[in-house]
Amino acid sequence: MENINKNPLLTQQHIEWRNKVRRFAESTILPVILEIDKRAEFNKELTCKMGEIGLLGIQVEKKYGGLDLDSLSYIIAVEEIARIDGSQAATIAAHNSLGLHPIAKYGTEAQKEMYLPKLAKGNHLWAFGLTEPTAGSDARGVKTFVEETTDGFIINGEKIFITNSASDMSLGVTIQAISGSKNGKPSLSAYLVDYDTPGVEREFIKGKLLWRSADTGKIKFENCKLPSDKLLGEKGKGAHIMLETLDGGRLSIAAMGLGLAQGAYEMAKSYAMKREQFGKQLARFQSVAFKIAEMDMRIETARNTLYHACWLKQNLKPYGREAAIAKLYCSEVAKMVADEAIQIFGAVGFLAENHIERFFRDQRILQIGEGTSEILRIVIAKHIGLPVSAAD
Ligand SMILES: Cc1cc2nc3c(=O)[nH]c(=O)nc-3n(C[C@H](O)[C@H](O)[C@H](O)COP(=O)(O)OP(=O)(O)OC[C@H]3O[C@@H](n4cnc5c(N)ncnc54)[C@H](O)[C@@H]3O)c2cc1C
Repeated sequence: MENINKNPLLTQQHIEWRNKVRRFAESTILPVILEIDKRAEFNKELTCKMGEIGLLGIQVEKKYGGLDLDSLSYIIAVEEIARIDGSQAATIAAHNSLGLHPIAKYGTEAQKEMYLPKLAKGNHLWAFGLTEPTAGSDARGVKTFVEETTDGFIINGEKIFITNSASDMSLGVTIQAISGSKNGKPSLSAYLVDYDTPGVEREFIKGKLLWRSADTGKIKFENCKLPSDKLLGEKGKGAHIMLETLDGGRLSIAAMGLGLAQGAYEMAKSYAMKREQFGKQLARFQSVAFKIAEMDMRIETARNTLYHACWLKQNLKPYGREAAIAKLYCSEVAKMVADEAIQIFGAVGFLAENHIERFFRDQRILQIGEGTSEILRIVIAKHIGLPVSAAD
């Protein structure tokens, strides 16, 4: 804990907030997580408990019922939950970064008043629907189509792999859909779709390797009629809204990588101090000690990179490059640390009861969700002026 809190960007309030979230994660999530992960079901009760301490409205303004904390406090919360469990971290990160942020930033006052108080309260979730069966990395390739009528919109289409979409705690989703065409290309807009709108169907996706107790689902829209006040932001600005939201979302995926790496490192270090072979603690073998020192070095670098990107966001400076670097780096550190931790555990690392097995599975999504590692390298290359394009 001492090393984590050495970062110069942390204030006393950040440290106290970290202590609070850590106590919650260790006392409330850790005792139940093996059973919840084994059942591979979303757990509403646990999610509501996260809501009770404010984790479902971390950056929402106080007048709408949120905690109104800064970006770094949000990142610390995701990091601390991920140190114990990836699925619960995914639930709060998808709700805060992807669900609440676009409404808070692009919503009209009426939309904010309609959605933010009930979503920040702690017993409801909101999702972000970009991915479709034929549009993953190529987010502009969506097929979901919106027809404008005299009194609103009619939506037809399908979204897939959407976090916080299928449980009855989830009230709706922000989607990107084709709303017309401009210069021969589809024009994209963003819409707020409440799940109780006729024509919306949802389904929980079963059988995932990882994030087993996060709610990942499919959503279908069949002649789904929306009133005209459900357009989010300006017409034709959907891609901008979704991509800007993803910049912030990448910081939270980075926080999941950092928290997961921290948890795996602590488990590996503690095991290496306890386990003896050839009459010595594993930690006395230089090859094992070096692995743990390497983990420490990478985690330290990952934390500095992520907190710096947060500082830029908080101080309203451009942070797209730094968010992409933080997401790519932290997710790769999570992969390396979880893999080496399993190596240090040996065979018992494969048993669910030792938790590291779950960390080893959960880290894999971090190199895919919200921009794959390949797409992030393209994003970074573009930021530094290289003439590369994802469509090459
Ligand atoms: C558990 C989970 C939760 C998710 N939650 C959400 C959510 O809440 N909302 C949402 O909208 N989406 C969500 N997603 C979807 C996620 O964002 C996508 O999986 C991701 O964007 C990648 O798309 P894809 O899986 O279709 O892969 P594809 O785009 O089909 O890519 C497959 C492979 O091809 C590579 N590739 C593709 N294009 C290029 C290129 N131009 N250059 C080089 N390589 C390339 C990729 O890097 C990857 O390795 C979730 C996914 C999972 C698994």
